[in-house]
Amino acid sequence: MERKNIAILGATGSIGTQALEVVRSFPDRFVVSVLSAANNTDLLIQQALEFLPKQVVITNTALYSKVKEALAHTNIAVAAGVAALVEAVELPEIDVVLNAIVGSAGLRPTVRAIEKGKDIALANKETLVVAGELVMDLVAQHKVQMLPVDSEHSAIFQCLAGEPSPIEKIILTASGGPFRGKKTQDLRTVSRAQALKHPNWSMGAKITIDSASLMNKGLEVIEAKWLFNVTASQIEVVVHPQSIVHSLVQFEDGSLKAQLGLPDMKLPIQYALTFPERFPNTFKRFSFTDYATLTFEQPDLETFRNLKLAYQALAEGGNRTCVLNAANEVAVAAFLDDKVSFLGMSDILEETLCQIPNRKQLSLEDYITFDKESRMMAQDLIHRLKN
Ligand code: NDP
Ligand code: MG
Repeated sequence: MERKNIAILGATGSIGTQALEVVRSFPDRFVVSVLSAANNTDLLIQQALEFLPKQVVITNTALYSKVKEALAHTNIAVAAGVAALVEAVELPEIDVVLNAIVGSAGLRPTVRAIEKGKDIALANKETLVVAGELVMDLVAQHKVQMLPVDSEHSAIFQCLAGEPSPIEKIILTASGGPFRGKKTQDLRTVSRAQALKHPNWSMGAKITIDSASLMNKGLEVIEAKWLFNVTASQIEVVVHPQSIVHSLVQFEDGSLKAQLGLPDMKLPIQYALTFPERFPNTFKRFSFTDYATLTFEQPDLETFRNLKLAYQALAEGGNRTCVLNAANEVAVAAFLDDKVSFLGMSDILEETLCQIPNRKQLSLEDYITFDKESRMMAQDLIHRLKN
């Protein structure tokens, strides 16, 4: 049997390491051809020695010689820097690029991979938040598959299998994060440690903070719009604290389909890599008797302003979601660095959106320029806030 060749970008992260767990359990079905990381050389080297890819890329160029030396006794090619990462996805044997990088840094590698005819397994939702229109046009033009890894989008994708009929509505479920039920007053003084405590999922720091602020759901609304070609008004968010119903699709006859399972990212990762097949695995199974009650409630858009901002940005179009994403990346990094408060993050987003004017019909380079400008603006606002 032909083995599927996978490039894993962001291999050392939460999604990257879980993807390698999946790959490890199907050695006769998958082969890893590229692994990348930004800074975590120890884990990258360890992964490279186990999976023996053709190429590894460390984007922090200062760390090149450490990785190179550690792998000198192997046939693995070592490269460093962002340009090398983008080039690595071009290797002819690659079938699918799993993009598990965090942030807008994932955009260029996704675009290059599509242009080279590779299927994409997309965890890096920022790719679609920044430049969804351009990216989905390229997907159509190059006839590649865009396979969602995000659990909600994987759920929708699974509900749509075998359904030629149009979608009436998408219902994205949200856990509500650690601050579900809290009001603005309660959130004024919440700490980094409190925000990092997600009730159901263990994930990278950036997405964990995004989950606490409901920004993650906002980014996912934008991601859903581009993946499934619906309007913002066709996407509804419902808070479901147990994270068992991963999302739903409503069809035009009123019928709803949902995908359920325990919260385990290995499941959507595996589906993206095996689609349209399902491989048998031994992941823990869901039991209704362990979860006798599944509950659903409205999101609180007044307290969690970021979700509202995401809907607005999506409705306005142009560069709005790119600016929103860039400001959010900077705000989250500053919050993790104790430079801005939890609620202060939303102020940074709002002010950056005010300061950077909207523009439409953008090229890849335009998006990248707006991403940079918005980051500088957000940094500047944080600096001014402190002084
Ligand atoms: P992590 O922070 O755990 O991992 C990020 C990975 O990307 C690491 O390998 C990191 O390398 C690398 N990286 C970081 N910055 C850069 C950069 N500027 N250029 C290139 N590589 C970089 O993130 P997660 O795995 O949690 O998330 C990855 C993506 O998947 C995000 O877009 C997130 O929203 C999405 N996602 C994650 C889920 C989860 O459960 N974790 C669920 C759904 C979506 P190093 O380790 O060396 O720093
Ligand atoms: Mg998700």
